[in-house]
Amino acid sequence: MGGGYDLHTHSTFSDGTTSPESNVEAAVALGLEGLGVTDHDTTDGFERARLAADDTGLELVLGTEFSAEHEGFSVHVLGFWIDPGHAALTDELERLRDERTDRARRIVERFRELGIPLEFERVLQLAGTAPIGRPHIAEAVVETGAVGDTKEVFDRYLADGGPAYVPKHAVGPRRAVELLTAACGVAVLAHPGLYGRDDRGVDPGLVEEMAGAGLAGIEADHPDHTAEQRRAYRDLAVGLGLEVTGGSDYHGEAKPNRLGSATTDREVVERLRSWVRT
Ligand code: AMP
Ligand code: ZN
Ligand code: FE
Ligand code: FE
Repeated sequence: MGGGYDLHTHSTFSDGTTSPESNVEAAVALGLEGLGVTDHDTTDGFERARLAADDTGLELVLGTEFSAEHEGFSVHVLGFWIDPGHAALTDELERLRDERTDRARRIVERFRELGIPLEFERVLQLAGTAPIGRPHIAEAVVETGAVGDTKEVFDRYLADGGPAYVPKHAVGPRRAVELLTAACGVAVLAHPGLYGRDDRGVDPGLVEEMAGAGLAGIEADHPDHTAEQRRAYRDLAVGLGLEVTGGSDYHGEAKPNRLGSATTDREVVERLRSWVRT
């Protein structure tokens, strides 16, 4: 028994608004057994989380949320227990982060063409040292006063395929799975219901291809999935012999998702761990 593991969280090391220490503290307060530290395209927040979790009994899972793309749409792959010193993976993560900066510049130009006086410098300030993500840009757009809130910025401009959307340099979902597993990690497809135009969800054929490349699990339990989606992705995972995980995708104030609102049971975490190729 216990509070389970929230395997999907963000901090100020990507586009979350809370520090790694504050996430650890909140997880302990909620009685969670474990916390996945899964910032976009980086593992840099882990060390601070680790220091904060010392002596708390909270188990941390070192991870990242790897940004892959398929046919112009985002596909996110969670990697757990990866070796942060594995060169093939860290080189690719570094390239992903660098190209986010160029892409942000192009998105800012798109907004300016659309009549919104966005300043690239402000986006840089909001991101700080984190890899620049669309939520940072959305926040800067809201500051211009042209749009009411960040949700509206996504709905009108920034969602995948929207008028200000620019795809990132990205590897495909299969390659992402291969890179994560080669780095001694375990790959799990994040929120499969949130992909593609109008969030139609990821094609089961693609999930099967990812399974062929070593995918270990599917994050069926995600706060943005409906009960029906959770069931469908659970069935898909079971059919492919994959694990079913849950995570809140907590982003602090940047998203309504509450920490601990979706979790993974300890025995599933133990089974997932056995997928690590040493
Ligand atoms: P990026 O990594 O720059 O492509 O941005 C991805 C992040 O933007 C996701 O993790 C979400 O936090 C946010 N995001 C993407 N699409 C939407 C959307 N339609 N509505 C709200 N937030 C979104
Ligand atoms: Zn995010
Ligand atoms: Fe994601
Ligand atoms: Fe996420």
